[in-house]
Amino acid sequence: MENIARIAQKYFAPESIKSAQNFNGHIIITLENEEENASKADALKAELLGLENIQKASVIFTKKKAPQLSPDIEKWKIKGIKHIIGVASGKGGVGKSTTAVNLALALADLGKKVAIFDADIYGPSLPTMLSFENTPPTSYDGKIFEPFENFGIKAMSIGSLIDRDTPLIWRGSKACGAIEQMLTETNWGEIDVMVIDMPPGTGDIQITLSQRLDFDGIVIVSTPQDIALIDAVKGVNMFEKINVKILGIVQNMAYYICPHCGQKSYIFGQNGARQTAQKMAIRFLGDIPLEQSIRTFSDEGTPIVAALPDSQSAKSYRQIGAKILQNL
Ligand code: ADP
Repeated sequence: MENIARIAQKYFAPESIKSAQNFNGHIIITLENEEENASKADALKAELLGLENIQKASVIFTKKKAPQLSPDIEKWKIKGIKHIIGVASGKGGVGKSTTAVNLALALADLGKKVAIFDADIYGPSLPTMLSFENTPPTSYDGKIFEPFENFGIKAMSIGSLIDRDTPLIWRGSKACGAIEQMLTETNWGEIDVMVIDMPPGTGDIQITLSQRLDFDGIVIVSTPQDIALIDAVKGVNMFEKINVKILGIVQNMAYYICPHCGQKSYIFGQNGARQTAQKMAIRFLGDIPLEQSIRTFSDEGTPIVAALPDSQSAKSYRQIGAKILQNL
């Protein structure tokens, strides 16, 4: 490891090297404030690829200016919520929303009063997964929204305020105000744990949410695949930089069991997310298999934890939920 960092220092300033890690033959170097020297990355990668047992080398450039938690930023006040957990991913499509909703249901199975808030402005999927698509939120007094309630959890989605057809750039600029309004002007009642399905990636909206909300911590969802892991590392680095605790990594689509012959295959690679967690000294929360019923039940509006509570997958979500509760 020191060897890798030493090589990186030949090309980039030591203080800009935020991490230099070897994930089973894949070296990932994270650099800060070095975008203008990006052309040096190829030479660095070539040298790293010359090391023994190294098959791949990646260089990640992080934002120029480290966003700092400023003490005078006012937090959003959400009444009645004891704990807030964010579910995040470095990139889209890794199963973040599926994990968030099943985790929320699992926490309810474990006896907690749970709410879930869908802040994924780029692809709000909670209305579909919890069967409240096309139903506008109600308000008895014209000011405070009533949350949706299904399968024993309360829910609200940014999808109810921001149309899917609204162009992405608009959604981005409207997002924080709309998220604040829905979070603070909803009659949540008494809630033990609120799960927030974050937008994917590490942009300004994620940073604003992290600063405005009192997170107990963030759960990172990643597949075992290299490309997803690079983004997961970026996500971990961003949250740590702004002092938001990482509760752990969930490895989604960890393996596939053939329904015909029962053979296990590792479609997206084996254990990449587990190894990343180990290397980064982050808790590994567990595996969720790639399973057709996880997708179909979500699409049909009854996530697997509610539809098949005795299935192995539902048990895995509950085990992950129990590990998270230990840490709150
Ligand atoms: P993200 O929120 O990261 O964009 P989603 O949760 O929307 O990802 O999942 C993307 C797609 O993958 C959805 O169709 C979802 O049903 C499916 N999916 C997610 N996790 C699994 C899984 N473990 N097994 C099978 N399909 C899954």
